[in-house]
Amino acid sequence: MRTPLVAGNWKMNLQYAEAMTLVDAIVDGLPENNGAEIVLAPPTIYLHDVLDRIQRKPGIALSAQDVSAYERGAFTGEVAASMLASVGVEYVIVGHSERREYHHEDHPLLAAKVDRVLEQSLLPIFCCGEKLDDRTAGRHFELIEQQLHESLFHLSPEKVTECVIAYEPVWAIGTGVVATTGQAQEMHRFIRQLLFARYGEPIASEMRILYGGSVNATNASDLFTCPDVDGGLVGGASLKAVDFLSIIAAAGTNR
Ligand code: PEP
Repeated sequence: MRTPLVAGNWKMNLQYAEAMTLVDAIVDGLPENNGAEIVLAPPTIYLHDVLDRIQRKPGIALSAQDVSAYERGAFTGEVAASMLASVGVEYVIVGHSERREYHHEDHPLLAAKVDRVLEQSLLPIFCCGEKLDDRTAGRHFELIEQQLHESLFHLSPEKVTECVIAYEPVWAIGTGVVATTGQAQEMHRFIRQLLFARYGEPIASEMRILYGGSVNATNASDLFTCPDVDGGLVGGASLKAVDFLSIIAAAGTNR
């Protein structure tokens, strides 16, 4: 039985006071035993203070939005996995489409980031997803397979089970256009089959695959009924406590 996971990616939003208000509202509004694991990914500069506040409630973990591919050294502006681990971070988002697009992160770089994260006993949330023209051209399965093969499937079975995969069709991120349940389930099933082919049945059925892309309080319930969708990576709707709490409730209910 996979425990659903709902992760809120705040991206580069919210001033300090707004971020603290949001985390307090989530912590206060979250029922005990909600049935899902919650992860918050605030901007790096707020990580420490968000951790202070989430410790009031069990079942909420802290994530970074990105990490350096290097261990340490002269990389101005970057943050090492060891630094994230030292301030209580548990998860790290790797390969978000905005990093791939605007920072030109390629497969080998993302594989290195995954390695740095795991070396520090942190848990990668590895994002994959196709652009609209890839889907229109019928290349979406091939593309997802390539993203997984080149940046994740070098891992040993022991290491890959520490990862969470987030399928995020780029055309659905921040657009309000959500994948249909049919599209989401089809791709999640495909990803699970790839895990099966590479790592075998126990690992394929154990690993969590999240859906991301315009998840909101209205559509979450339907998406989370898909048998291979194990929760969501949520951007915009994670910035409103009421919406995020509804999404969490939907994940817990559809367990
Ligand atoms: C995301 O950034 O990972 C995301 C899914 O954003 P949104 O929910 O706003 O589409």
